[in-house]
Amino acid sequence: AARSAASLRSPIVCIMGHVDTGKTKLLDKIRQTNVQEGEAGGITQQIGATFFAKETLKDKVAVLAQEAGLEVRLPGMLVIDTPGHESFTNLRSRGSSLCDIAILVIDLMHGLEPQTIESLNLLRSKRTPFVVALNKIDRCYGWKATADGSSRLSLQGQDGATREEFETRAARVRMELNERGLNAELYWKNEDPASTVSLVPTSAITGEGIPDLLLWITRLTQERLTEQIMFMPDLLECTVLEVKAVEGLGMTIDTIIVNGALRENDRIVVCTLDGPVVTSIRAVLTPPPSRELRIKSEYIHHKEIYGAMGVKICAQGIERAIAGTPIMVIGKDDNEDDIKEEVMKDFTNVMKMDLDTRGVIVQASTLGALEALMQFLRKECDPPIPVSSVNIGPIYRRDVMRASIMLEKGKPEYATILAFDVRIDADARAYAEEVGVRIFTADIIYHLFDQFTAFMANLME
Ligand code: GDP
Ligand code: MG
Repeated sequence: AARSAASLRSPIVCIMGHVDTGKTKLLDKIRQTNVQEGEAGGITQQIGATFFAKETLKDKVAVLAQEAGLEVRLPGMLVIDTPGHESFTNLRSRGSSLCDIAILVIDLMHGLEPQTIESLNLLRSKRTPFVVALNKIDRCYGWKATADGSSRLSLQGQDGATREEFETRAARVRMELNERGLNAELYWKNEDPASTVSLVPTSAITGEGIPDLLLWITRLTQERLTEQIMFMPDLLECTVLEVKAVEGLGMTIDTIIVNGALRENDRIVVCTLDGPVVTSIRAVLTPPPSRELRIKSEYIHHKEIYGAMGVKICAQGIERAIAGTPIMVIGKDDNEDDIKEEVMKDFTNVMKMDLDTRGVIVQASTLGALEALMQFLRKECDPPIPVSSVNIGPIYRRDVMRASIMLEKGKPEYATILAFDVRIDADARAYAEEVGVRIFTADIIYHLFDQFTAFMANLME
């Protein structure tokens, strides 16, 4: 159904926090899926988006809604899961810059950890409101679980010693947040949500606290962020997450529409490795509600779709679109050249980075992953690994040829491609073998570093 301008759009909720605090597991619990166990090393590598429709929201908060007098006015919620590993600063930064409100997950047993603090700093610098999920409450000694129940009510029903352990641990987290200049309070005691962060106890294993978490976020967004989440029918805000070939669909791009609308046959401009591409939308697809965009499923076709939503777009000429860049629609009064320039801006800036004359080649799947990998190789590796050339997308013969130049320059150790989360063309692999170029591949960034340092150490002997 067409949506009027006076209505709210779905807020974008970003899940952040240290690795292993339970971000993916929490989302799995809300969705009733099992993404977490299928991930490489249990670590989320890319941004995933899941839409929860209004009905699902109402359902999930039902145990508390009546008591709280809550009427759900949001059309839904788009939840974004971000990678937790430390070398993903840029991806997290991208995820969080899309979001209206964040859930910062803290492991009740561990308190604040390095990426918790990094996330806190990011949220503050962007002035993004957030709530804290104090996760893993089920690990308090003697915990008696009420599956999918309210954590506030669950806590009331615990034995004295169990409740005491929770109180002690929660107080410690509160103090650690205080030390960082943040007031924090358990959400049911929070009388001033504008200046005090709410702590929502949760368990991603038992599902306790999920009603509390969703109810609190629904309230905060629809009551306090009304202005920000006002639906704007004529203003498309859309970001590319990933380019993917899908059987039966051809090339597709996964995107997040933040606001506005996208329609079949719209003329759009996409930022690609070969410059701006003007094309028209052949199909607008979404996964079924409560399913993730990253995961294979039966897609639903739309004539028209509204933000916020995770959307798969089919169009021609998008093979070399770059993740992390915007998509814009060309309206009938728009100047095409202005739009092209706007769409290319971010990419142009990243590609201006300085490279070394002698160094390895770095190849990654997305603009964000490339930035993350570069940051890791240059800032976090000791000694830093020099990089002579970067690229986004699969590895072809021409990339191997570029790497082989280092052989001529007398630096055989740099005749190396560090490939993150990309496919290697069969011909490229054979050619690399033939000329003596090494290709290290990994889908976890620090594994690439380990492989390369082991190789360098070997060379020194
Ligand atoms: P992420 O890195 O933050 O996405 O964390 P994951 O969702 O991958 O979870 C990390 C580990 O913690 C997994 O082994 C989960 O099963 C476990 N875990 C997550 N949430 C809970 C929880 O609420 N209680 C307990 N006991 N374990 C949890
Ligand atoms: Mg995860």
